[in-house]
Amino acid sequence: MDNVKGNMGWIEVVCGPMFSGKSEELIRRLRRAEIARQRVQIFKPALDNRYSADEIVSHSDLRIKSEVVSSATEIMNKVAPRTEVIGMDEANFLGADLPEIAGRLADLGKRVIIAGLDTDYLGRPFAPIPDLLAIAEQITKTLAICVRCGNPAKFTQRLIESNDLIVVGAADSYESRCRRCFEAGVPREAHQLKLAGA
Ligand SMILES: [Zn+2]
Repeated sequence: MDNVKGNMGWIEVVCGPMFSGKSEELIRRLRRAEIARQRVQIFKPALDNRYSADEIVSHSDLRIKSEVVSSATEIMNKVAPRTEVIGMDEANFLGADLPEIAGRLADLGKRVIIAGLDTDYLGRPFAPIPDLLAIAEQITKTLAICVRCGNPAKFTQRLIESNDLIVVGAADSYESRCRRCFEAGVPREAHQLKLAGA
């Protein structure tokens, strides 16, 4: 998609479980655009302040400057007319109107690159990625490595007990697992620890 001619916008989605390299891939594409001297703006949700307030930071510590926003609507208001490439990380925290706004930006001739989780902690499709996949020109699915068996991992296993859809955390509260090793919700060990009073 790097060699599209003229002022044509489009949407790229990078999705997969945690620890699958989504942010690395997003940063790689945005760096290439910067090297090509394109005007780039990068956004991340205010909720995701795990590593840095004004940068996107991958688990492997790649980083790129970003603007913090509370919603996709705010991105629409902050995009400069001359911006050519727009990056967004942690799309699941940007609100339900992200697909509509991504479509509007692409219609304006912007290249929109969005990274996010495709499934939640129960393995269910995680809004708004499913809708984005339907309207995107290009989709990349990233896989992690199962920490149990070493196979390619599609799922994000939550290690702490919570029924909230969003619990912000990293290696202390989540790990990647394959379809066979994944347990929807909290893994059995956590329940047993709790029953044992630990
Ligand atoms: Zn496994």
